[in-house]
Amino acid sequence: MENNLAILQFFHWYYPNDGSLYTFLTEQAAHLADLGFSMVWLPPSSKTEDGINGVGYSPYDLFDLGEFDQKGTVRTKYGDRKQLDEAIKAVHKHGMKVLFDAVLNHKAGADEKEVVTVVKVNPNNRTEVISEPYEIEAYTKFVFPGRGTTYSNFIWDRSCFSGVDWDARNNEKAIFSIRNPYGADWQEVSSHENGNYDYLMFSDIEFRNPAVRAELKYWAEWILKQVKFDGFRLDAVKHIPTFFFNEWIGHLNKKFKKEIFYMGEYWEYNVQSLNRFIDATQGRIQLFDAPLHFNMYRASQSGSGFDMRTIFDGTLTKVNPMRSITLVENHDSQPLQALESPVDYWFKPHAYALMLLRREGIPCVFFADLYSAGYTDKGADGQDHEVILAKVDCLETMLRCRKKFAYGDQYDYFDHERCIGWTRIGLAETDFTALAVVLSNDGGGTKSMEIGQKHAGKTFVDVLGHCKKEVQINKSGWGNFFCEDGSVSVWLDKEQLDKLKAD
Ligand code: CA
Repeated sequence: MENNLAILQFFHWYYPNDGSLYTFLTEQAAHLADLGFSMVWLPPSSKTEDGINGVGYSPYDLFDLGEFDQKGTVRTKYGDRKQLDEAIKAVHKHGMKVLFDAVLNHKAGADEKEVVTVVKVNPNNRTEVISEPYEIEAYTKFVFPGRGTTYSNFIWDRSCFSGVDWDARNNEKAIFSIRNPYGADWQEVSSHENGNYDYLMFSDIEFRNPAVRAELKYWAEWILKQVKFDGFRLDAVKHIPTFFFNEWIGHLNKKFKKEIFYMGEYWEYNVQSLNRFIDATQGRIQLFDAPLHFNMYRASQSGSGFDMRTIFDGTLTKVNPMRSITLVENHDSQPLQALESPVDYWFKPHAYALMLLRREGIPCVFFADLYSAGYTDKGADGQDHEVILAKVDCLETMLRCRKKFAYGDQYDYFDHERCIGWTRIGLAETDFTALAVVLSNDGGGTKSMEIGQKHAGKTFVDVLGHCKKEVQINKSGWGNFFCEDGSVSVWLDKEQLDKLKAD
């Protein structure tokens, strides 16, 4: 039987630019597999317009994974190609998969300017044209002088982009829709924010150009076959036409025998929008459950004022659990970042219990919660702020509980505003390992919950050590499980605790 899936986001926004990330992954691979991770999501490995300072979301060359002298550096922020290859090898050696963070909506840092015909649009309603067609000079030509024709001889030019935001002729910043042969208007995308949300930033890729689609298929084959990634985290999917994903995924799935994993970032709190995208892409892309993240953020801000029975209301995990990737935090929601909405520290054990120990969703654990992080950056007030993100102490134990104990039917006791619980009753294949969880955002509590007759007469203890009591399971397979004030307790059979030790 396969273990429960779990993904680790192996970076945060402020990871140092010293080129050490891939080496760190190589060192950590055995430990991560032992904790029960099945997949590692790396930051975008492509060379960015910012050289070693680029986090990865402003890609310049998708074929330069730290191998060519471009943008002032051979390596990227995270290391060089050789170190990346070694990290991937280590991840595979320990039975895990590795996901490439594919930023396909845009390219940045073009090598040359071109004269292009555009119209200017209203930034708040991109369907409203506010100029006659005219010529500007746009950064749309990518010739990759440092790489030349190694791996690919494709030159990106003005026919490969639908929009830009800089006119170098008049030094003007605006949103310009490029008139090209593939459609006079923006591309049809899922998000209708700002009238049409095709354009996000930099040089926006034109998927209606068949040469672009062919190049991106060829590139993805190279990533999967030559670089040996196992799947993709797809950035900013709400700005990319869904027909492209259907064609691209259809092509790759046909081409490769191995199962390719696709998880998309569609950052929106309205679950209907997420479901519409999932339907439009034929259910082949898992999506991050942004609404659940937002519920967790609100719960952590509200203290005892949040009704815990509603924590899954309006979430993808509730309405479409097979397509949901759950997360507490990511590189955009962490403090001082674009979508800053950090889950308060006191609630992180609650949030991870809700992600890791339940049946629904595939959890994606955030780097800083496992390893901690410290950094300084400017806040919205223009002042420098120092941020220390402590690691979540009980996270490793919860991961081990997920790997060994979180199996079988799930009985929910979401019956009190401030205190909820559930049990997993185990499977024959997992030696009937079972668990019970009780969590509260106010006073402590007791919950009578069924954990199965297989466990009658057993003694259960809180493996997190938050509650010192012991729980006896009665002959019908029920126990009175506790948790302390504002706390989480995870109850396991005392006699099975040695299963949590490292393999
Ligand atoms: Ca776009």
